[in-house]
Amino acid sequence: MKKEILTIFNHDRNIFNSKYIYPVVSRRSMGLSLGINLNTNNACNWQCIYCQVSDLTRGKPEKIDLKLLKSELDKWLEEIINGSFLNECASHKVDFKDIAFSGNGEPTATAEFEAIVKIVLEKIDKFQLSKTIKLRLITNGSYLNKKNIQHGLELMKSVDHEVWFKIDHVNPKEAKKINRINLSIASLKKNLINSFSISPTIVQTCLLKINRELPSNNFVNEYIKFLEPYASNLRAIHLYSMVRPSQQKTDLQIEALDKSELQIIADKINVLKTKIECY
Ligand code: SF4
Repeated sequence: MKKEILTIFNHDRNIFNSKYIYPVVSRRSMGLSLGINLNTNNACNWQCIYCQVSDLTRGKPEKIDLKLLKSELDKWLEEIINGSFLNECASHKVDFKDIAFSGNGEPTATAEFEAIVKIVLEKIDKFQLSKTIKLRLITNGSYLNKKNIQHGLELMKSVDHEVWFKIDHVNPKEAKKINRINLSIASLKKNLINSFSISPTIVQTCLLKINRELPSNNFVNEYIKFLEPYASNLRAIHLYSMVRPSQQKTDLQIEALDKSELQIIADKINVLKTKIECY
């Protein structure tokens, strides 16, 4: 295996020559995260202006080669658990924290999601990881109305697991601008309820300075109003900004918020009395 040094600034899915599995050092996972990229064709149903996926296209993943995914996962877990990977490839001491469905597009768009969850659970069992790592689904939530995805989440319940559910905007006009989607508030509510009814759920919100302007008070108020009825059902809210450059073309000037700017917004959202973490 080619040796590379992992840092939070390099989340290239391809540096280790695996098709589906890629290791990253993740700020929010607080250690090594073994990512499962189901969108190897860089296709997503959203087109966020801050997305770090290059050659992003609108669409669904290609059919997954389950046999290959299984053997890659086995190889990577062997390297991490029984090999020298963590010592040789991390820039500082990191622990193995999670296996995460997170790739170059929306992972739950794949028709084989349930079968893939079963493969991952089998490997968590084989390497006896159920007490040491989490299984995470990082999602824009838009397919959580689908029965096969809900069944996949039900299966994930057999291990320590979490859903990180993207809500950047609750205003359809803003969601059109930032996520480039036609947001239905009714669907967003249903999908969020589907998520926390089955799985511990963290709402993750990417905040940006647009044309040098910070998120407005109006944004904060709409966000609070939307989440208020569900606040006690959430495990946490993650506020974060871009740490790696966007790979998308946009006429808007987008910049990251720094930690203190995120904290000012977190202090306002604090009225929800949900745990808020800034990254
Ligand atoms: S949902 Fe995620 S993968 Fe899809 S465009 Fe947005 S940031 Fe990129």
